[in-house]
Amino acid sequence: MSRGKRPAVFMDRDGTLSHEVGYVNHPSRFRLYPWSAGAVRAINEASWLAVVVTNQAGVARGYFPETVFDEVQQRLRQNVESGGGRFDAVYACLHHPSVGEPPYRADCDCRKPRPGLLRKAESELGADLSRSWVIGDRHSDMLLAWNVGARAALVKSGYGLGELTYLAPGWSRQPDLVAENLLEAVELILNREPA
Ligand SMILES: [Mg+2]
Ligand SMILES: [Zn+2]
Repeated sequence: MSRGKRPAVFMDRDGTLSHEVGYVNHPSRFRLYPWSAGAVRAINEASWLAVVVTNQAGVARGYFPETVFDEVQQRLRQNVESGGGRFDAVYACLHHPSVGEPPYRADCDCRKPRPGLLRKAESELGADLSRSWVIGDRHSDMLLAWNVGARAALVKSGYGLGELTYLAPGWSRQPDLVAENLLEAVELILNREPA
């Protein structure tokens, strides 16, 4: 382990930190889960990095302007901060490989499960990916973790219960952890791996 490097908990947004409501095409549709601020606070207190990694192709698809995305990200930060938590970074992929116009239409390296957003955290924040976890409600979040040698936790919120019940039996690799929600996942991870 190199000096100064810290493990990170990478969190998906929709279905993990906030209710899965389809495209958040207006800021009023964004609703944080009641346990999310406490989960982020627990990550802060353990001196791990707390980082959001989210795919938001709605901009590329022309469903809403980037200003809506910006405002939702601001609400996310404010909601978590008013609950005593703080993100070290909020990273998003706004691209889609085949829909829309450049610059949003792009075969980028940051659309999950591609590892670009995690690599960014590695270079900008000094995240130690080999000791890090990704928490999400979809298989692509699990693949994201495994693509960089991190571990993957599946939450049952959002699409999680459905993925776990109907799809996970067909996955060649199973999640390293399954939890009811983000807070339970964070508590299990931090108990298992003191920083
Ligand atoms: Mg999700
Ligand atoms: Zn991207």
